[in-house]
Amino acid sequence: MRWRGNRQSSNVEDRSGSSGQSIGKVATAGGGIGALVIALIVFFVSGGNLGTVTDTLGGNIAPTAYETTNTVTKDYTEQKEFAAVVFAHLEDYWNQEFTNRNTAYQNPKLVLFSNSVNSACGQASSQVGPFYCPADQNVYLDLSFADELSTKYGATGDYAMAYVIAHEVGHHVQNELGISDQVDKIRDRVSTTEYNQYSVRLELQADYLAGCFSKYLAGRTYQGQPILEEGDLEEALTAANAIGDDTLQKEYQGYVVPDSFTHGTSQQRINWFKRGYQYGDLEHGNTFNEQNLDLAS
Ligand SMILES: [Zn+2]
Repeated sequence: MRWRGNRQSSNVEDRSGSSGQSIGKVATAGGGIGALVIALIVFFVSGGNLGTVTDTLGGNIAPTAYETTNTVTKDYTEQKEFAAVVFAHLEDYWNQEFTNRNTAYQNPKLVLFSNSVNSACGQASSQVGPFYCPADQNVYLDLSFADELSTKYGATGDYAMAYVIAHEVGHHVQNELGISDQVDKIRDRVSTTEYNQYSVRLELQADYLAGCFSKYLAGRTYQGQPILEEGDLEEALTAANAIGDDTLQKEYQGYVVPDSFTHGTSQQRINWFKRGYQYGDLEHGNTFNEQNLDLAS
């Protein structure tokens, strides 16, 4: 991605210097499918409220120990600037999309941390991966996740990280549209297995929205040069593939339990990202209305 020189978002707060203890775990968004089908139309019901749901990126990412370091390296500065640039493009894109629909949009904030962080959704450690907290509308990101993506999941390249950030902002968009709130209300009424299926749809939709953003970015230039470089989309797809529930379960427990999926299979995640990239609109992103999630493309 050609990002140097691009505008950096001012909605970035760096809390990485204040390291906390690595305890606590946020609840991941469960999901399941009941009789309810949420129509895309409800996307535009006014912004949802809080709830305790915290959406992380992947369902079953195995814990990793992180060392504390307060040294600001050149790498760290670069990663931070990169994240701020991606966040700025996301602001431009989503403000434009909401303005086109005469709907108000509130920018989220990006909170950078290391080891652990206090959010309105509770204390979270880096082990849960990047997440969005609807209660404070912040995206929480430990920049060392980029290393984890490349070393542990084989997802290298800057656009893998851009996909991750776009996915989390996708959860914010869902929150703004009231979708997260509706899914959250279902939680108490259905079994865990059923709720997991709602979670999968919420997560796949966040992937879809990341795809929409990527299509937008593919049409942008900076100083006459396209911002997306060759290989960027593949980097996103590699990341999406690596953090599919089936792939993660095979890797970490040796077998797959579909009822426990909360984020969707690798193929589903790829399909929905690609579909977002294909259409680039909200209208084709109703993961709650698809009979067969595997036939998304
Ligand atoms: Zn997510």
